[in-house]
Amino acid sequence: MAENSLSLNFERADPDRITLFADVMLPVPIPQHYTYRVPQDWNEQVLVGQRVVVQFGSKKVLTGVIVHLHEQPPQHHEAKLLLEVLDSAPTLLPAQLDLIAWMAQYYMCTPGDVLNAALPSGLKLSSQSKVARHPDFDLGESTFDFSDRELQILEALNNQESLEYNDIVLLLGIKTIMPLLNSLIKKEALVLFEEVREKYRPKTVRYVRLAQHLIEQEGALEGVFAGMKRSPQQENLLLKYLQEVPVYSQPETNQQGMVKAQLLGAVNAPGSMSTLIKKGVLEEFEVTVSRFGAITQAPQALPELTHAQEKAQQQILQLWQEKPVVLLHGITGSGKTEIYIRLIREALDSGSQVLYLLPEIALTYQIVQRLKRVFGNEMGVFHSKFSDAERVEVWQGVQQGVFNLVVGVRSSVFLPFENLGLVIVDEEHENSYKQMEPAPRYHARDVALLMAQRADAKVLLGSATPSIETFHLCRQNRYGYVLLEQRYGTAQLPMIDLANLTEERHKKTIHGNFSSKLLDAMRQAVAQKEQVILFHNRRGYSHYMRCEDCGWIGKCHNCSVSLVHHSYRQELRCHYCGHREKVPLTCPACGSGRLTTVGFGTEKLQEELSILMPEATIERMDLDTTRSKYGYERIIEQFEKGQIDVLIGTQMVSKGLDFEKVSVVGVFDADRMLHFPDFRSFERTFQLITQVSGRAGRRSKAGQVIIQTANVSQPVLQRIMAYDYEGLYYAEVAERQEYKYPPFVRLIKVIFRHADKDTVVNAAVQYTNAVRQNLGAERVLGPQEPMVYKVRKQFIMDCFIKLERGKLNLNAVKEHLWTQRTLLQKNDAFKQVNVLFDVDPY
Ligand code: ADP
Ligand code: ZN
Ligand code: ZN
Repeated sequence: MAENSLSLNFERADPDRITLFADVMLPVPIPQHYTYRVPQDWNEQVLVGQRVVVQFGSKKVLTGVIVHLHEQPPQHHEAKLLLEVLDSAPTLLPAQLDLIAWMAQYYMCTPGDVLNAALPSGLKLSSQSKVARHPDFDLGESTFDFSDRELQILEALNNQESLEYNDIVLLLGIKTIMPLLNSLIKKEALVLFEEVREKYRPKTVRYVRLAQHLIEQEGALEGVFAGMKRSPQQENLLLKYLQEVPVYSQPETNQQGMVKAQLLGAVNAPGSMSTLIKKGVLEEFEVTVSRFGAITQAPQALPELTHAQEKAQQQILQLWQEKPVVLLHGITGSGKTEIYIRLIREALDSGSQVLYLLPEIALTYQIVQRLKRVFGNEMGVFHSKFSDAERVEVWQGVQQGVFNLVVGVRSSVFLPFENLGLVIVDEEHENSYKQMEPAPRYHARDVALLMAQRADAKVLLGSATPSIETFHLCRQNRYGYVLLEQRYGTAQLPMIDLANLTEERHKKTIHGNFSSKLLDAMRQAVAQKEQVILFHNRRGYSHYMRCEDCGWIGKCHNCSVSLVHHSYRQELRCHYCGHREKVPLTCPACGSGRLTTVGFGTEKLQEELSILMPEATIERMDLDTTRSKYGYERIIEQFEKGQIDVLIGTQMVSKGLDFEKVSVVGVFDADRMLHFPDFRSFERTFQLITQVSGRAGRRSKAGQVIIQTANVSQPVLQRIMAYDYEGLYYAEVAERQEYKYPPFVRLIKVIFRHADKDTVVNAAVQYTNAVRQNLGAERVLGPQEPMVYKVRKQFIMDCFIKLERGKLNLNAVKEHLWTQRTLLQKNDAFKQVNVLFDVDPY
């Protein structure tokens, strides 16, 4: 846009031209769009979906998105002018704007909340965004010309590490600074601050190649070999290079060279390598690679589908003709992924885009590599561990048609698809598809279903243990249903067995937390060079610490939970607010030294096992060991290479891992999971244990799963052993129908938070009473204190609204819930109470 924009402040409407107004969606939690006036010069350029910079309130400068252009001046405020238009083409497509509006409405939050979740921060320049000098920029060496204003910005950045958007506006006395910043970014003089933090530098790989003259001059290479008779390592390196790069038959291949690390991997002689480079025999050079690792080899041919897989694929295609949504219910290891791959290929070949959703923990290195081999550079990966720069790269890649397939976690539903033909939701039952905090509290599977419906795309839901909701819809013939009940090849489902803790305790055959039954199986497996996975859904050392004399328990002072003992750093940690403190030597209450730990986490299992099985190499995979970007991959790789005998992990080990040599899986957590007070706890336990069990026996030898429990007759455990999903389904629906839980009703949870306990209780009671009057007593449950009733010094109360399906106007009910919230907050006493909605809570 025009650079000289001081005049904007004085702009007068030209009577001959129309005055346009833009409704702008802002990334802040306000219920409505805010209206701005479009400077008349820009009438031709503004488009719905473009990002714009606007002033909001007296100080804030924000990036918003135009959602509507019209000629109606706002009634309740004087329209300020748009400050900038950031895009030439829209960043958000009409379908995305619709989706955002729908999500705000359905999930009872503001469009701004959704926008905030949707845009990667690289596209979200706000008043907090900063710019800094590009780390490699040198004014003297730059070949570009700079305007006075650009120089002024650079000058200011000599004295200050970074500048905020507002600082620059003040500095230059103009309002439209984006063109200047963009120009400086293009000239590689500036970077947006977030990119600096994310190590903006492109990723490079070091290569080596032969010095060109050695190839061009006849006999030169022979001369080199003759001269290195006494350095066999140098000779080996060179021979290996010639073996990999056929410079004699195809001299042009030398240009590309070979990855230095790869050559060193074959001949581990870094010293000789340096000598060869110093002598000028080899040249070293860098290549910038895409952050997603470009694929150079040709895509692999797909393996033949088995008869059962082939049949399942045909059934899916057939069902799609009548029903846009199909569930593929395939046991673990049945080859669902192979079927997905075929269907993706077909959709891509027909010219449509494909979204492949995976839950966080299942989006592993293994699955990405497998898909990469087939889809190569057509595929973008969208993962929460990726930096913002990488997310922007995927966003733009989708927009530009580079990535027609995106494999990603829940937030990939926000990507700018224009021509979606197929959505796959793998592990559709996974609860990590639901965003708990902050708003929008959406479920990616459900959003994907809606997106697909609007785009007229097909949906394939996949799972070995479908959610009760989805299976129920299949039973009602709303979704198509395809069953795949054989494992691929000769692999068999593992035998699932229970270890009776009550009995073993009685007989004193238990060692720490390990039953003899499990321990024997593990020892045998490790002796035969097979691997073991142990699943325990609690990280840390113990559940909590207690004084044996006065009964003191280490609790978080911000939250209503006990602190978890982590032995590695000798810390007590709160898993809710992150608070940490050193483990006390003596009881803080009575001074006694008799402090004990109660319960056990993954750390303690690891410690016990290292004493019980000193011959085994044991690793742990949980949040604590996988925080770094590649921490997870590193452990998986080691396990894959057989460098680890026993892998102890939390939920992370339950999914997506496919290892040949796992023959024993141990499950520690069953009883606690079953007793968790939630209407989904049986369903979840069934799903989780079945999934973890699926890690065993993926090759010809059947594996063995041992669940440790104090209650061997527990019906859910019996069903897990019998692989009786239908049994679980019937028991669950009977129960849920009787007690009115999903899928028979819709739930909306209303959450109240405030720092003062009485205030939050009173607010919750008042709100619940008001709502109850309108909706009827049986539809409103509570208010009650949740199990964890205080987090980060905020007290919490919950109330649940239960709505029968099909009988009520859902939108009217939501409207009512909103209105009651507004009325509640009109009361001065409750103004500060945070009232949140969670639609379809998990
Ligand atoms: P699921 O996703 O249903 O658990 P996978 O798709 O991961 O199962 O398949 C399990 C294993 O069997 C994988 O190692 C996969 O490569 C292999 N596999 C499945 N189907 C085939 C096939 N038709 N040809 C070759 N290998 C297959
Ligand atoms: Zn004490
Ligand atoms: Zn805490």
